[in-house]
Amino acid sequence: MTYGDMPPDEFRRHGHALVEWIAKYFENVERYPALSTAKPGDLARALPGEAPERGEPFDRVVDDLDRLILPAVTHWNHPGFFAYFAITGSAPGVLMEFVSAALNQQAMLWRTSPAATELEDVTLRWLARLMHLPETCEGVIYDTASISTMHALAAARELAVPDVRAKGLAGRKTIAGGTVYASEHAHSSVDKAVIALGLGHESLRRIAGDERFAMRVGDLERAIFADREAGLLPIAVVATVGTTSSTSVDDVSALAEVCARQGIWLHVDAAYAGVMAMVPGFEWMRAGFDRADSLVVNPHKWLFTPFDLSVLFTRRMDVLRQAFSLVPEYLRTSEPSSVRNLMDTGVQLGRRFRALKLWAVLRYFGAEGIRSRLRHHCDLAKRFADWVDADPDFTRVAPVPFSVVCFRATPPDLTGDAAALDALNARILDRINRSGEVFLSHTRLNGEYVMRLAIGHLRTEERHVARAWDLLRESCRLEIAGER
Ligand SMILES: *Cc1c(COP(=O)(O)O)cnc(C)c1O
Repeated sequence: MTYGDMPPDEFRRHGHALVEWIAKYFENVERYPALSTAKPGDLARALPGEAPERGEPFDRVVDDLDRLILPAVTHWNHPGFFAYFAITGSAPGVLMEFVSAALNQQAMLWRTSPAATELEDVTLRWLARLMHLPETCEGVIYDTASISTMHALAAARELAVPDVRAKGLAGRKTIAGGTVYASEHAHSSVDKAVIALGLGHESLRRIAGDERFAMRVGDLERAIFADREAGLLPIAVVATVGTTSSTSVDDVSALAEVCARQGIWLHVDAAYAGVMAMVPGFEWMRAGFDRADSLVVNPHKWLFTPFDLSVLFTRRMDVLRQAFSLVPEYLRTSEPSSVRNLMDTGVQLGRRFRALKLWAVLRYFGAEGIRSRLRHHCDLAKRFADWVDADPDFTRVAPVPFSVVCFRATPPDLTGDAAALDALNARILDRINRSGEVFLSHTRLNGEYVMRLAIGHLRTEERHVARAWDLLRESCRLEIAGER
C-alpha cells in the first residue's frame, strides 16, 4: 500500500500522452458528428454502477475517453457547430485550464491566492478598457451569466430595500415586493434570478419588443408607473445587448434615461455580444454602457475562453459587497482593508483560478487578433444572410447585427399554412443535424418556428458555412418532395 499521488514520472508520461490526445482531437474534430448520436442512457448503461475497489492503471481511464466518453460528446469544437451560441475553448485557454487545475487555488481571500485575486483584477481592467467601459467599473468573475445577473439583481435589491439582508422580503407590510423589467426576448436567467432572490416570478415584467425585437421603451415606462401606482417597488431594468433568440439590441441609452428618472438599477445583459464593443464600427452598441449600473459579458461565449468564465462589471461593487460580505472569525486576516477578498463579492466562498485562462487568451491573440476574428465571424454571418436573402425558398426573419442569422424555409407554395411551415422547418433542422456535418438550433420569433445559424468557432471557415447552406437547401427540397 502506498499513500502518495501518482509518481512524477508517471504523471509526465500521461501528461505528454494527453497533450498528444488533445492535439489530435483538435486536428480531427471534423470527423466526429457535431451533434452526438448517443441515445439517453447509453453512457450511463455502459459504466459500472460502483467505483472500483482497487485503483486502475490510468491508461485504462484514457482508453475509455475514446471508447465511451467521446461518442457521448456533442462537439462544440466542430467547425460546423452553429447551434445556440457557437464558442471556442482556444488552445491558450485550454493549456491554462490545465495549469489552473495543477495550482488548485482556492481564492476566497487575498492571502489564499494573491495571484488569482490580483490577476483577476488586472485582467478584468484590461477587458473593461478593451470594451471602452468607464474606468469606475470594477469586475468580478463568476461561472455563468446567470449567476452574474443574479448578483447584479441582488445588488439592485440591496439598494432598493436596504434592510433586505437582515429581514428578507417575506411578510413585509410596507413593500409589496420588488419588480424587475426586461424585454420579452430577455434571457430566462432573469426569471431564475428573480425566483432565487425571493422576488417571485410574478415580479418580472416582460415588456413587449418592437419589430426589430428591441424593448419598447414607452411600454417600459408605463409599466413602471403602473406598478408604482399599485404600491409596488420597481428595482431594476435588465437591458439586453444581443438577445439569445435573435441577437437584437435594446436601446440602452433610452433605458438609462428611464432608469435615471425612476431611480432604479440598470443591468445590461451582453453575455454574447458584449465583446463586440471592442471592435471599431460597433461603437453604436455601447451607447449607454457608461450609464449602466452593471453589465455582464461572457468570455466563455465569444472570447475564445474555455467554459466557464463570466464577468460582471459594475460601478457599484460597494453595494454588491454590502449585500454579501460576511466574515466569520476563522476567515479574519490581518491584511490591510484595501486588499480585495473575492469571497466578499458573492454567494460562493471558494473560487477557482479562472482569470489565468482569460489572461492567456488576451495575451496570445492580442486585441488586434481578437478584433479581426470577431469581425470575420460577423462577415461570415453576413455572407450567409445574403444567400438566404437571395433564395426564394427561404426568408430571413431578423436583422443580423452580429454573427447570428435567423431564417426559415418559406417555399412559395406552402406559405399561408403556418402549421405546415413550422413542421417543415423542424423537419429540415432535424435532417441536417442528423448528417453530423453541422448542428443548428431553433427559436420562435413572432410565434413562428425559426432556424438559427450562430457563428463563433475559431475553426469555422467559409466552406463550413457554405456546406450548411447546401445541406439546408437540399434538405428543404427533399422534405418538400416527401410531403407530396
Ligand atoms: C447565454 C446567455 C445567457 C446565459 O449564459 P450562462 O453563462 O450560460 O448563464 C444569458 N443572457 C444572454 C443574453 C445569453 O446569450
